[in-house]
Amino acid sequence: MALCRCESCGVKKSIQTYVPVNPVDYPNAALICGATKCTNHAKIWLNNNEYIDYQNGVKTFRGSNTNFAKVRVD
Ligand SMILES: [Zn+2]
Repeated sequence: MALCRCESCGVKKSIQTYVPVNPVDYPNAALICGATKCTNHAKIWLNNNEYIDYQNGVKTFRGSNTNFAKVRVD
């Protein structure tokens, strides 16, 4: 599942490796870091399988709350 975090917060303490990619219109996208109390603009962090999909042209990914929204990378 893709995560949304700013470059300062990043993705820490995860058993998976995540790769940051830019959302459409970054840094002016309406995507805000999901870390507690952080209001910075976020990048989209893809896990290994998602990053392989991204390299093969997939541009839309689901977050951990699958019914809230999907995100689109640039
Ligand atoms: Zn942040």
